[in-house]
Amino acid sequence: MIKLMEGIPINSNKIAYLQQVKQQNMAAILKQIWKYEQVSRVELVDHTSLTSGTITNLTHELIELRVIREYASVSGNVGRKRVLLGFDPDYYRILGLDIGRSTFEITVTDLCGRILKTVGREIADQQGPDVYFREIEPVLAEIKEQIEQAGHQILGLGVGVPGPIDYGKGALLNPPNFPGWGGFELQQTLNERFQLLTLIEDDARTSALAERWYGIGRNVEDLVFITMGIGIGGGVISKGEIVRGTNGLCGQVGHMTIVMEGKVCDCGNRGCWEPIGSIPGILSRWSEGSTMDAFKAAVDRGEPEALKCLEDTLIYLETALINVFNLYDPELVVLGGRLFPYLAPSISSVQSRLQSRLYAFAKDRLRLEPSTFGASQSAVGATALLFRYLLNEPVKLLIER
Ligand SMILES: [Zn+2]
Repeated sequence: MIKLMEGIPINSNKIAYLQQVKQQNMAAILKQIWKYEQVSRVELVDHTSLTSGTITNLTHELIELRVIREYASVSGNVGRKRVLLGFDPDYYRILGLDIGRSTFEITVTDLCGRILKTVGREIADQQGPDVYFREIEPVLAEIKEQIEQAGHQILGLGVGVPGPIDYGKGALLNPPNFPGWGGFELQQTLNERFQLLTLIEDDARTSALAERWYGIGRNVEDLVFITMGIGIGGGVISKGEIVRGTNGLCGQVGHMTIVMEGKVCDCGNRGCWEPIGSIPGILSRWSEGSTMDAFKAAVDRGEPEALKCLEDTLIYLETALINVFNLYDPELVVLGGRLFPYLAPSISSVQSRLQSRLYAFAKDRLRLEPSTFGASQSAVGATALLFRYLLNEPVKLLIER
């Protein structure tokens, strides 16, 4: 925690320094409120090492800004009323947009992380930005107008898209099976059309953020989210923050080598997990042109070829998970995506097989869980991009903007 220092001359440097102190202190308070959900001012003093004067002033300002509010609570043994502070769900709204290869979804959340609205649409495969914008624009404009007419303030728009991403330009970098999107400056386009602060992120990472901020990973510092569907992706959270790597490729679990001389993959490698373990991968091994529902029905009927294909799929998943646990040493691995419901009945057997393949002293810590938000995972996580910004840089987001 930064404490005020004596003897700094009064000039613009000092003003900037004081703003920085305020930013860090306010962020520390908001993070504690998020961590405990409701907390008293006295507890805030204990948890942050800030003085009670600073806590009083900054919480007063945050209440005026309508970010937090007071909640009354009766303390147990003496029946005395305590005032607790928690996020205010009534004023700010956050918009989340997930753009998939054949769908889009828009989600609205409040500052308590509650999902207030979800609207989704299917889009024909292989369409470029023009087709998507024709569909997205009227829906997003209507939601924005409804929120503003009801007197709420929109904090911003978070967007999850298929990666990889050029973060400097806010553009997509030639994502596989998504023609027309390579180089498209999505962040700036949305920002200009809707006049909203817009942040974009890889959809596997927004999915990981959904768990970290609102879901099962809320108090977990190290977690990996694996999404399995048309493609296979991953989002890595370390020490509570998303990890992108040098080229934005950290967590590309779908491109780990599973079969050394296997199929050639779009990424240039051979034998990646994605081309054999994703939905198209399973169907190409079982019955090209079929569907996952037909595959599931064949498994349920006990057809030997379908059972063999399922078993191979589970071995690929198990192999990938062994590598994920050994590389990242997460406290928790969360599995989601459109493929996951088809594999869910077999996950406990994968988990028990993993037990025998991982470091014995750590195997009891092996946690494998299903995702919290199902099909809305990435859109919910997109709103977390703005919530995370609020908790890290509240002065910049609320006061300086
Ligand atoms: Zn690959």
